[in-house]
Amino acid sequence: MLLGILKESTLGETRVALLPENLKTLLAQGITVTVEAGAGIASGASDLAYTEAGAMVSADRASILSHADLLPVVNAPSAADQAMLKSGAVVIGFLRPLEAPEALATAIALHVTLFSMELVPRISRAQTMDALSSMATIAGYKAVIDAAGYLPRLFPMLMTAAGTIPPARVFVIGAGVAGLQAIATARRLGAVVEAYDVRAAAGEQVRSLGAKFLDVDLGGISTEGGGGYAAELTEEALDRGRDLITRTAAHSDVIITTAQVPGRPAPRLIRRAAIEAMRPGSVLVDLAAPAGGNCELTHPGVTQTLNGVTLLAPLNLAAEVPVHASQLYARNILKFLALIAKKGELNVDLADEVLAGACVAHKGSPVNPRVAKLLETKQAVG
Ligand code: NAD
Repeated sequence: MLLGILKESTLGETRVALLPENLKTLLAQGITVTVEAGAGIASGASDLAYTEAGAMVSADRASILSHADLLPVVNAPSAADQAMLKSGAVVIGFLRPLEAPEALATAIALHVTLFSMELVPRISRAQTMDALSSMATIAGYKAVIDAAGYLPRLFPMLMTAAGTIPPARVFVIGAGVAGLQAIATARRLGAVVEAYDVRAAAGEQVRSLGAKFLDVDLGGISTEGGGGYAAELTEEALDRGRDLITRTAAHSDVIITTAQVPGRPAPRLIRRAAIEAMRPGSVLVDLAAPAGGNCELTHPGVTQTLNGVTLLAPLNLAAEVPVHASQLYARNILKFLALIAKKGELNVDLADEVLAGACVAHKGSPVNPRVAKLLETKQAVG
């Protein structure tokens, strides 16, 4: 069996799906590993390091694509790359099956089996494969570091002979995985932190990190979707959050916003009025930018200055910390691979709930019902 590791071709991508340190258990099963030259450079892994770990390094991307039985990736291969894959090959990565299912059509038609790391069920057995949490942890940290870089103020309170400097005030919206890491990072830097989330369960976690949880009376509606995620709220309930956000923005130096509802556009929570209420020099980092953004002024991928407020809308913050992002991602991938590659044999058993949940397509047909429906709709429209 041949496992290929590609140099990611998506613009701005620096991560790699597997590092030299991850190859031991694969090679021990008799799997041959071929790495595209330069695949790990940005993540601190040289071609030599892969060779020393027992892999082959090749500059022939087309050959890797056409021979690989197993292809762990970070991002979905392009249609041109997919066209070179062999029938029965298995591709695993952040394939964006709910956002862009049609971009996977070539591989599906070629009977390539596709597994999406976004769809791995969030059950305890699959926690070690939870790549979304791994990347959200990195993004939450980096968002605060970037905000601190832009902020024309210090984060910690300082008492000096020249006077006392008050701590920065940070407001985190959405206290999920990224939000909690943002709170922890801002606290470590000495900021005073407030946070808001629609899920009441988040309150205890926020307080345990030394931040203040801002409660909004949502009239007793259910805010929990499945699997610990938030439910999509009514406009009326969203409005109550928006009012709180505008009030809190007025005294915040930094806002880190992370609110998301899986498979839906990000809720628009931050009105123009909230940005206008912030002091010049303040910073807002919209981590929901890949899903459209939480702020109504966000342009995904674009940094703006509005009334002196810096609005960052990064699309791939994890890629800005490539060494550790790759390290965590690769461990998630390795755990996933252990479910389908045993003793050097490929065995895709869709009776396993983790595999069934993560499977986008198998033997030419979509497996995930949401993806199947999306593809049907696209075909009908097309
Ligand atoms: P996410 O990225 O989908 O959302 C981020 C946060 O935004 C969530 O906390 C959500 O409640 C919040 N949010 C959504 N709409 C909002 C609104 N209108 N206003 C304010 N906040 C809003 O979620 P995530 O961070 O990936 O995960 C959320 C939670 O899921 C975690 O905190 C955890 O409890 C649970 N989880 C469970 C597992 C597991 O069981 N293996 C793994 C990861 C996460």
